[in-house]
Amino acid sequence: MKFEDSLKFARQLDRTDPLRSYRSSFKIPKIKGKNSVYFTGNSLGLQPQSTSQYIRQELDDWANLGVEGHFHAKRPWLYYHRLAKKSLARLTGARPSEVVAMNQLTVNLHLMMASFYQPTKSRFRIIAEAGAFSSDQYALETQLKWHGLDPSNALVEISPRAGENTLRTSDIVNTIIKNGDSLALVLLGGIQYYTGQFFDIKKITAAAHNVGAIAGFDLAHAIGNVPLSLHRDNVDFAVWCSYKYLNAGPGALAGAYVHEKYAHDRTLPRLAGWWGHDEGERFQMKKGFIPMPGADGWQVSNVPIFQAAALLSALELFDNAGMSALRKKSVQLTGYLEYWLQKINADNRYFSIITPDDPKQRGCQLSIFMKGHGKKISDALLRNGIITDWREPNVIRAAPVPFYNTYEDVYVFATTFKKEIDKLKW
Ligand SMILES: *Cc1c(COP(=O)(O)O)cnc(C)c1O
Repeated sequence: MKFEDSLKFARQLDRTDPLRSYRSSFKIPKIKGKNSVYFTGNSLGLQPQSTSQYIRQELDDWANLGVEGHFHAKRPWLYYHRLAKKSLARLTGARPSEVVAMNQLTVNLHLMMASFYQPTKSRFRIIAEAGAFSSDQYALETQLKWHGLDPSNALVEISPRAGENTLRTSDIVNTIIKNGDSLALVLLGGIQYYTGQFFDIKKITAAAHNVGAIAGFDLAHAIGNVPLSLHRDNVDFAVWCSYKYLNAGPGALAGAYVHEKYAHDRTLPRLAGWWGHDEGERFQMKKGFIPMPGADGWQVSNVPIFQAAALLSALELFDNAGMSALRKKSVQLTGYLEYWLQKINADNRYFSIITPDDPKQRGCQLSIFMKGHGKKISDALLRNGIITDWREPNVIRAAPVPFYNTYEDVYVFATTFKKEIDKLKW
């Protein structure tokens, strides 16, 4: 599409946007009494209007039924984890039996590695991206040490080439080949949180399998942002959080995916709890752990119902809108933001966009690496009612989310950004 720089044009796109009605399904934070331009759905998604009803239902059922709510609540608590399965399966491109909502992201990462990272004397290395999110780095470091391994030898970190911002798939694949027989696990983000790069999950998984390694992905920035096909891509395991693009609220109930080929594998080591035990005899309190088939067998504790209720309210919106329609708008909305940024930065003086320019290699977020004044501009945007996300040392992350952001939001962001740039000396 050929974009134009007028407010009229932005509003025209909003009027003809097939998803325009969804904005009113969310609570838009206000600044100085006015709707903010909220470009931080990559960090904490907005609250669906329906979330409070979903949680209130559980509060009422608890008040009225007490422990009987496990069986007689409107959505019986005993089987609550089943309710998110179909929606999560659609979002991840998996079978319902391959996904489960549970715990928090980093906890799930540890649980998955307990099963899928089994180093031996010869095969023990893990490949990850240099500059992975801190929590993932800590998880990797401490898993290695827990197995008695030295991260400086066992952890292989891939960096962009000198002068480049993102990883080349060929470099990832070649690093996998090079580590060959010593490689146990490849663990990458689906979308890199800092650069916004969407990795080629299918190719990376195939390369890992070719050398006999496991492929796992952290989908924190990918789920609800880009379409995924974990089952078809043969991914072994994946984890995600639900408070970013899934809009399930601060500290929301996270999730995990385990490929069907492991569904009945009772030999895999696990860190188990009663909620992963065979449902038929869970309350017999017997000795001897028997995992439920599929991803459910990795559950540990019983379900935090209020968090799960919030997740259901958020997933319902995804079921209604559909990921393919969201992605379609997302590509255009982020394309419009990119058009504006290129216009403002015609001589490359003020910043560079470190997110790939190919829409297939990114989600909705653009990471703007400022060549100066970054924090000052980020603060000025906030004073103007625009919430973006500042990342040291010099990056403003802007994520127009197709569910609740508008083309007019992009227009307001871009014109304010330009105004603030023009105020400063360069
Ligand atoms: C947001 C995010 C996390 C946060 O971890 P929690 O366990 O949810 O606190 C971890 N890793 C990545 C890549 C993230 O983007």
